Amino acid sequence: MNASNTTPSGAMVFYSQFDDFSAWKQALRARMPHLRVLHADDIDDPADIHYALAWKPPAGFFDRMPNLRLIVNLGAGVDSLVGRTDLPAGVPITRITDPRMARMMAGYVLFATLRHARDIPWFEQAQRRGEWAYRHPRSPEDTRVAVLGLGELGACAAHELQRQGLTVLGWSRSPRQIAGVQCHAGMETLDAVISQADILVVMLPLTPQTRGLLNRARLEKLPRGAALINVARGALVDQAAMTALLQSGHIGAATLDVFEREPLPGDDPLWRMDNVLITPHLASVAIPASAAAQIAENIARVSHGDAPANQIDPARGY
Ligand code: NDP
Repeated sequence: MNASNTTPSGAMVFYSQFDDFSAWKQALRARMPHLRVLHADDIDDPADIHYALAWKPPAGFFDRMPNLRLIVNLGAGVDSLVGRTDLPAGVPITRITDPRMARMMAGYVLFATLRHARDIPWFEQAQRRGEWAYRHPRSPEDTRVAVLGLGELGACAAHELQRQGLTVLGWSRSPRQIAGVQCHAGMETLDAVISQADILVVMLPLTPQTRGLLNRARLEKLPRGAALINVARGALVDQAAMTALLQSGHIGAATLDVFEREPLPGDDPLWRMDNVLITPHLASVAIPASAAAQIAENIARVSHGDAPANQIDPARGY
């Protein structure tokens, strides 16, 4: 289906406090010149809105739009949409599944993993002391990295990690196969995977099943001194337990892009811990120029009465 040949009826509304409206409008108009793309602040006739491209819209946002046909989540994680009470029944919700977004995430995970695998935080601290502190590097295969979640982003990151020669374990709900990655599936295998991880990378969606999955008991299963990388959602991890285990040294170090509360409050102890690197939820973002094609394709599909691609399953939560 060629999206640019389709003239969709109705307009698209855009809402995000983080993403650039004009960049998205330009990218979408390049694919669908006839599509009207409006910012949520500029809606004149809510009945004219057939498509929504939104990231964390305020409560009641969709209630005003009686003719919605497609909701596009402006990102990969749909936890802030699933379960809302203003979602119109029967309107499909899609997520962005963009190879460039996956590559950007893999880049962050690779950086964070290699930083721990190569003891860079230890050298940073030695440098601050003005110390030439030699520590012989380990061979890559001697570092075991476990990636929890092997979806669009997790599978790409696991692939890139094994390309570095690291020993990579993966974990998902249903069995997956990724060349060079030891894949495990199901709750019954989780503790064994965690207990082998020198570096644990969290790349799961936040759902009722995964909320709080990494509780104190599971974090304690990590080998002493292991590193934790969370690029998925803060609420997957018991943050208080994680903080205590970082203070005790059971968890040796952490790279954290996501938190139970965002922004992370200024008085949170994590800010002042030498063994923690904090970034403000930006491990990866949707890129307009590459993601616009699939959005246009889905608008074309919906306009023709077909089901869109990359639909999420609200019952499953991702
Ligand atoms: P996907 O939905 O494509 O994949 C999810 C993976 O998690 C799948 O492998 C799935 O298993 C697995 N999974 C889900 N539930 C369970 C469970 N109960 N037990 C075991 N495994 C489970 O997600 P993505 O890879 O696209 O993204 C992952 C998350 O990353 C997003 O949900 C989002 O929260 C976060 N994210 C963070 C960003 C940031 O900047 N920090 C940016 C983008 C996303 P199966 O393969 O069997 O379906």
